[in-house]
Amino acid sequence: MSRIQLLSPRLANQIAAGEVVERPASVIKELLENSLDAGASRIDIDTEQGGVKLLRVRDDGRGIVSDDLPLALSRHATSKIRDLDDLERVATLGFRGEALASVSSVSRLTLTSCAEGEDQAWQVETEGREMSPNVQPAAHPRGTTVEVRDLFFNTPARRKFLRTEKTEFGHLEEVVKRLALSRFDVAFNLRHNGRSVLGLRPAHTEQEARRRVGSVCGPAFVEQSLTIDAERSGLRLWGWVGLPTFSRSQADLQYFFVNGRMIKDKLVAHAVRQAYRDVLFNGRHPTFVLFLEVDPAVVDVNVHPTKHEVRFRDGRMVHDFLFSTLYRALAEQRPGERVDDQL
Ligand code: ADP
Ligand code: MG
Repeated sequence: MSRIQLLSPRLANQIAAGEVVERPASVIKELLENSLDAGASRIDIDTEQGGVKLLRVRDDGRGIVSDDLPLALSRHATSKIRDLDDLERVATLGFRGEALASVSSVSRLTLTSCAEGEDQAWQVETEGREMSPNVQPAAHPRGTTVEVRDLFFNTPARRKFLRTEKTEFGHLEEVVKRLALSRFDVAFNLRHNGRSVLGLRPAHTEQEARRRVGSVCGPAFVEQSLTIDAERSGLRLWGWVGLPTFSRSQADLQYFFVNGRMIKDKLVAHAVRQAYRDVLFNGRHPTFVLFLEVDPAVVDVNVHPTKHEVRFRDGRMVHDFLFSTLYRALAEQRPGERVDDQL
C-alpha cells in the first residue's frame, strides 16, 4: 500500500490550473480581471500565435509592492479578501488567489510591477520552479505587466487540446470584448502577431459608450437596438437590446453583466427569452448588451470557479424585473400594442 504524501506546490497548482486554465482565453480573462481590480485606466494586450506563444498584459494600475511579488504567484494568496465577511460581499472580480499560481505552473511567466508610491519597479520570473522566485529590479512605469509565454509547454496533454491559432485567438478576442463592455471607462488595446485588432478609447459620455458598443458588437447592432434604462426595488437594468428584426441564428451577441461581471445564467436567459417570445421566430436568438446593478449583498458570485453563474437571493424578483422591463420596451415600439394587458 502506498503512503499518503502531500503534493508539491507546483503539482497542486497544475491540478488547480486544470480547472481554471483551459486555453489562452482563460488566461487573458484572469489577467484582465486583475488589471481591472488594480484600478487600471488603460490596458494593452499583446498576443502571438493565438496567445499560445505569448500573452502580455500591461496596465497602469496600483501595482504590487516588491515584497508581495512572490506572494502574488502563490496559491490562496490574495489582497482582495481577508475573511468570510469580505467573501460575502466581494466587489472585485478576483478573490480566490489562484489565477497567477495556476498560470505560472503551466507557462513561463514574468511579473513586473511598479507599485503606487515606489520609485523602482521589480520583477519575478518563474519557470518550473518549486522555490520562491527571486525578485530583481526592473524598468516599468507605475502599473503591472504580466507576460505569459509558451502556455502548457510542460503539460503536453493539455497542449494537445488547443485548437488552431485562429480559433484560440477568436476565444481570446471574445474575452477582451466582454471585459471592454464591462468597463467603458477603461482603454483597451489588443494586438495579435504585431497587428492592432481592437483599439478602444475610454468612453465617458453616452455617445462614446454607443461608439464602443458599435466597435465591439458591430455598428448595425447599435443602430437597430432599443436603449434600456429602468429601475425598481433597488435593481437597475440598462443597456441595449436588439430589435426583433436584428435577431441572430446563433446566441452569439448576448452580453449580460451583473455588477460589472459578465454572467451566463439560466434565470436571466429565461427572462429574456420570455420577453422576446412573441416577437421572434423559432430558432432565432435575441441580441443584447445589458447591465444589471444590484446590491452585492443580494447576489452570490462564489458559485463556480470560472464564475459564469451567480445566485440571486430573490431570483423571482430579478426574473420579473428583467422580463417586464424588456417586454415593455419591445412592446412599446410596436404600434397599437397595449402593454398593460400583458403584464
Ligand atoms: P486574485 O485575483 O483572486 O486575488 P490572482 O492570483 O489573480 O488572485 O492574483 C493574486 C494577487 O496578485 C492579487 O490579489 C493582487 O494583489 C495581485 N495582482 C495580480 N495582478 C495584478 C495587477 N495587474 N495589478 C496589481 N496587482 C495584481
Ligand atoms: Mg485574479
